Formats: sequence, structure tokens, C-alpha cells
Amino acid sequence: MKICIPHSKPTLNSHDAALVAKVVHSGHVSEGSQVLKFERAFARYQGQKGAVAVNSGTAALHLALVALGVGKGDEVIIPSYVCTALLNAVLYVQARPRVVDVYFEDGNISTESVRKNITRKAKALIVPHMFGQPADMKDLLGFGVPVIEDCAQAVGASYENKKVGSFGAAGVFSFYATKMMTTGEGGMVVSDHRGLLKRVRDEHNYDHKKEYHIRYNYKMTDIQAALGRAQLERLPKMLHRRRQIADRYATALSSDKIQLPPRVKGKESAFFRYVLKVPRNRERVIRYLKAKGIYAAAPVFNPIHVYLKKKSFPNTDRLMREAVSIPIYPSLTEREVNYIAANVRAAVKKFC
Ligand SMILES: *Cc1c(COP(=O)(O)O)cnc(C)c1O
Repeated sequence: MKICIPHSKPTLNSHDAALVAKVVHSGHVSEGSQVLKFERAFARYQGQKGAVAVNSGTAALHLALVALGVGKGDEVIIPSYVCTALLNAVLYVQARPRVVDVYFEDGNISTESVRKNITRKAKALIVPHMFGQPADMKDLLGFGVPVIEDCAQAVGASYENKKVGSFGAAGVFSFYATKMMTTGEGGMVVSDHRGLLKRVRDEHNYDHKKEYHIRYNYKMTDIQAALGRAQLERLPKMLHRRRQIADRYATALSSDKIQLPPRVKGKESAFFRYVLKVPRNRERVIRYLKAKGIYAAAPVFNPIHVYLKKKSFPNTDRLMREAVSIPIYPSLTEREVNYIAANVRAAVKKFC
């Protein structure tokens, strides 16, 4: 049989399917008791006051900005090395994006770059924890601008023994199919600020309101939430497996020709991605792996500064040339992990 190891794969099982089927059979399929239970369990997992489930990570980002009162004329700082969901959320509220560079080491937003670009108009700073590796929260909180932690890739990661998402004004999450845990599509806003949560809850549902202003239909369904609850229960196990695979790769792939994901004291990555930096012949490495049935990929499709035709983002540009993400997800078997490691090693030896 031909080997085919996709770049990412959700971890789903018959238990998930049974819980979803149960909701379908109940007839209560839209936002209801399953969503409430999922929100409570998620807030508890995070160790935070509350959570509001929404229908995507983008919606979570959007409502976090709305709840912080960000609007026309305000600036929001975002990194360049990330998907356009962040840019979209900023533009939905008619704010101005201030795009800044990242660190080459881990792809996370650079404190120095924020410092150079921050103005008095900055009303929020969106900080993704890229590939599951926590950003430098302590430094980033020091600017005195509300931080929205984008944990779309980092549920379960921790910074100085505290879950990411619990440092800033709000933490936002995505449960898209390829993420750490999935509800198909879905998202969550988590916070310790009751007022912020109340505003997010109000905005995410347009119906049954005393007064009118523009609101949204960003509700999660009970079908999704049933899946989310099952996934959240298995999250510690899934995280453990990801970290086990990362340890295996770290040992097997250590070489002076490529750079592995950084290991930093006080930061515990969720290993959403295992990203190598390959300075020579990255495309040949990717092609070689593909011929072996292993799907590796550049982890960011196109950076934000390129879409916006801006220049001088040296670390983002270098990551766009050198970064390769190899498969890492809980359902990989031992044999597959060994097969991937052996073939990456062979490719590096041959081309780098
Ligand atoms: C996936 C992702 C998003 C967007 O989440 P959706 O659920 O796809 O809307 C936002 N930020 C980061 C860092 C992501 O990885």
C-alpha cells in the first residue's frame, strides 16, 4: 500500500461520533445546553472566570476587539507572520492594522518590533502563540495596551506554569479541523473580565434584545459543542502525544544544518506544529518528502506584509524562505513517526 501521511489530521473517534449523534437525535441542535457545558468546561480548563463559544476563531478575534471598544481611527498591532484572520478582524471593526515583524527563532511577535511601532493610537495588541510556542507575555504586557492572546494554535501551552490565554485581556481560540482540538469550525473567547465576557455574549447573538445596535450571529451549535466537550476531555492525552513526538523529532533530527523549534525555560509548547528552519534547498526537501508520501508544508501561506505590499520584515521574509512544518499530530503511529524522522534526516543529509 502506498504510504500517505498528511500534514495535519483531526483526532476523531467513534465516541465523538456517538455524542454528536445523540445531539442530532435529541432535536436540540442549535446553541443550548451543550454549548453552556462546553463553555464552563473550557473556562475551568483554562482556570479563568468565563468563556463564550462562537462559530470560529475569526469571530472570537472580532468580538474580542468589539468588546475592548476598538473602532474607527484606532490602531491594532498584529504580527506579519500569521494568517489573514487577524487582519480581517482588525478591518471588520474599521481599525488600522499596525503590522510588525516577528522573531526568527519561534515566529512569535517581536517585542522590539512592537516597541518601534506602538503609538498612542494603539488600542489593542494581538499576540498569537505561533505553532503552540508561547510568546514573551511578560514583555508584551508591559506596553500598557490591552493584549488579545490568539491561542488558535496553542490550547494547552503554558508560560511560567500558567495556561496561555489567561495573561491578556482576553484569550481567543479556534476549533477548526486542523487545530489542536476541533469542532469542525468553532471558536472561544475566554477572559477573567466579567464585563468583557458579557459584551461578547451580547454581541454574538442578535435576537431577543431590548434595544437595537448591530450585532452578529456567531453562535456555536450544540452539535459542535458536544464534539468540543469530548475533544477537551481528551486534550491532555493528545497534548502528551504531541510532546512525545516532538521529543522524538528533537533527538532524531538534531543537526547543524537545520534549526529545530526552540526549547525555552518557562515555556511549554503545545506543539501544534513542528517547524524546522532549512536554510538550503527547502523546496527540494519538501519534494523529497512528498515522494516518500510525507506531506510537509510552509506553515504560513503568505504573510500579511506581502498582502499589504509593505517592506522591511526581515525575519518574516526569512521564515517564509526557510520554515518547513512536518507532520505532528496525536494519531501518528510510532512507525509513522520513525518513518518521518528517518526521511527528514535523509533529505537533510542529501540537500542541506
Ligand atoms: C486558525 C487561526 C485563526 C482563525 O481561526 P478560524 O477558526 O479559522 O477562524 C486565527 N489565528 C490563528 C493564529 C490561527 O491559527
